[in-house]
Amino acid sequence: MGECIFCRIAAKEISSQIVYEDEDIVAFRDINPQAPVHLLIIPRQHIPTLNDATPEHQTILGKMLLVAQQLASEHQVANSGYRLVLNTNRGAGQSVFHIHLHLLGGRAFHWPPG
Ligand code: 5GP
Ligand code: ZN
Repeated sequence: MGECIFCRIAAKEISSQIVYEDEDIVAFRDINPQAPVHLLIIPRQHIPTLNDATPEHQTILGKMLLVAQQLASEHQVANSGYRLVLNTNRGAGQSVFHIHLHLLGGRAFHWPPG
């Protein structure tokens, strides 16, 4: 997966502002933030889209949510509110095909989303 930009970020071949990492997960600031807090939470494992996830990914997918919970608290948006977004395929706005959870916070969000 040498061409995948998020695999390369996780391997630190491309620099980013990493805010969390462990053996399974890396989180870093989005290069084009859409809110005062805009983090991307990714598995180290290359999974292109949510459609490619299988039951063997259950633990890592759950861990992504718990890391999001922790980061929301650390970045002071847990109480004010935050939004988690997981775009799947181009029609939904996915542009990087390595599964990632957006954590957005620090401003008001509208519903329905655009
Ligand atoms: P998607 O549109 O696939 O849901 O989200 C991809 C996100 O990755 C976008 O918000 C985009 O700004 C971000 N992004 C793309 N390339 C880079 C990069 O090289 N570094 C960082 N930090 N974020 C990136
Ligand atoms: Zn990848």
